[in-house]
Amino acid sequence: MAAIAEKIPEELEQIGDAVEAFCRAEVIARHQTNHALLNDPRNTYREDGRFVDDVIAQIKAVRMASAKAGFYNVSVPEDLGGAGFGMLAYYTLLERIYRVCGAHNWLCDFVVSHWAFGPSPVLSQVTERAKSEILNGMIAGETIMCFGMSEPGAGSDAAMLKTRAVKSGEGWKISGRKIWTTHIPIADYCIVFAITDPDRAAKKAGGISTFLVPTSAAGVTVESIIRMHGHIGGNEGITVLEDVDVEPWQLVGELHEGFRIGLFGVSMGRIYNSARAVGLARWALEMAIDYASQREAFGNPIAAYQGVSFPLADSATEIHAAHLMGLNVAQLLDNGERAIKELSMTKSYSVQAAVRAVDRAIQTHGAMGFTNELGLHDAYARVRQANVADGTNEILSRTIAQRLFKGDTEL
Ligand SMILES: Cc1cc2nc3c(=O)[nH]c(=O)nc-3n(C[C@H](O)[C@H](O)[C@H](O)COP(=O)(O)OP(=O)(O)OC[C@H]3O[C@@H](n4cnc5c(N)ncnc54)[C@H](O)[C@@H]3O)c2cc1C
Repeated sequence: MAAIAEKIPEELEQIGDAVEAFCRAEVIARHQTNHALLNDPRNTYREDGRFVDDVIAQIKAVRMASAKAGFYNVSVPEDLGGAGFGMLAYYTLLERIYRVCGAHNWLCDFVVSHWAFGPSPVLSQVTERAKSEILNGMIAGETIMCFGMSEPGAGSDAAMLKTRAVKSGEGWKISGRKIWTTHIPIADYCIVFAITDPDRAAKKAGGISTFLVPTSAAGVTVESIIRMHGHIGGNEGITVLEDVDVEPWQLVGELHEGFRIGLFGVSMGRIYNSARAVGLARWALEMAIDYASQREAFGNPIAAYQGVSFPLADSATEIHAAHLMGLNVAQLLDNGERAIKELSMTKSYSVQAAVRAVDRAIQTHGAMGFTNELGLHDAYARVRQANVADGTNEILSRTIAQRLFKGDTEL
C-alpha cells in the first residue's frame, strides 16, 4: 500500500484490484502461453519489421477483452460510450498495470485506451458522421488509430511541419511525410496534422488542421518500419501521403486550429507517460529488493551492503515523489485546471526518476539484469524513450521556465 495521506478513493482502489486480476488473466497468462510468439523477436516480427498477423490478433484480443471488461474506455467521456472517469482513474490504473506487468508483458500497453491509438476525449471533436462511422469499432477495441504529427523536419518544433492539405472541391488533398508514428503499421485510422493556411502557419498563428484519415485510403503508404532499441522490428513507421483526398466530415476540431488537438492529446500522453514511468520504476525496485535479499556475496545477502541498499533507497524516495506529483496533477486536471507547469514537471521528473530506478535495478541484478527474461532491459528502453516522446525533458523545462517567467510561481 502506498504511503499517501489522502487515500485514493475506494472505488478506484477496487477498479485497480480488478484491473490487476484482468492483467494476470489476459496479459501475463497470454505472454506465458504464447511466449515464443510474443517475447522472441524472431517470431514477433516479419522480415519487413512489422508484427506478424498472430501478434496483431493477440493485441486486438487484449483490447477487445478489456473493452468488454470495462477497463479500456475507463476515462473516455460517457457520451462517446466510455465510463467517464477522469485523469485520477487514468493515472492510478496505468500505474497499477505497469507495476504488475513490467515491460516484458507488453500486451498490457493495450489494456487502457491511449489517446494516440484508441478512444479518448479527442474523439469528442470529430464530426457526427465520423462518430457514426468509427465510434463503435473504436470503443469495442476492434479498430485503432494513430497520431501523425511529427515529420522528418518537425519534432519538438512541431509547427515546422511541411505536410499540406490543399483545397480541392469541397475537401482537400493531403501530401507529405510523417515519421515516428506509433501504431501506424497496425492502425485503421490516422489523425493527420497538415497545413491548411500557409501564411498563418508561417507566423505560428494557427493554419494547421487535423484530419481523420483511414490508413486504407488511396495515397497512404507506410514506407518503412522504424527499428529501435536493437529490435528487429517495431511499431513505429514512416508514412508517405500522396494526394490523399479528405472531405469536410473528416476534419477534427476547427479548421486551421488543429494544433490545439495536438496539445490536448499530448497532455494526456504526459499523464500516461508519468503513470507508466512510476509503475515500471516500482516494478523494477520491487524486483531489486527481492533479488538483493536473496543473492549472497562475501557471506551475506547483498542487501546487507549499503553500496547495494542505498541506491534502492534513493529509488524509493524518487518514486514516492513522482507518484505524489502524478496523483496531484491528475486531480488538478480533474478539477478543470490546465496545470501546464505541474504536468510538465511531473512528466519530466517521473520519466527521469524511472530511468534511474530501472538502471539501479539492473545494477543490483549484476549480469542477470541484462537477460531478456527479466525484462529490465526492455523497461530501460521504454522509460528512456519516454524522456523524448510526448515532449522531451528539455522542452518540458522550457515550458516550466516560460510559466515561471509569466508569473506562475505557485509551487
Ligand atoms: C517512442 C516514440 C514514439 C513516438 N510516437 C510518435 C507518434 O505516435 N506520433 C508523432 O507524431 N510523433 C511521435 N514521436 C515523436 C516525438 O513526438 C518526437 O520525437 C519529439 O517531439 C521530439 O522531436 P525530435 O525527436 O525530432 O527531436 P528534436 O526536436 O530534433 O530535438 C532534438 C534534441 O534537441 C532538444 N531541443 C529542441 N529544441 C530545444 C529547445 N528549444 N531548448 C532546449 N532543447 C531543445 C530536444 O530536447 C532534444 O534533446 C515519438 C517519439 C518516440 C521516441
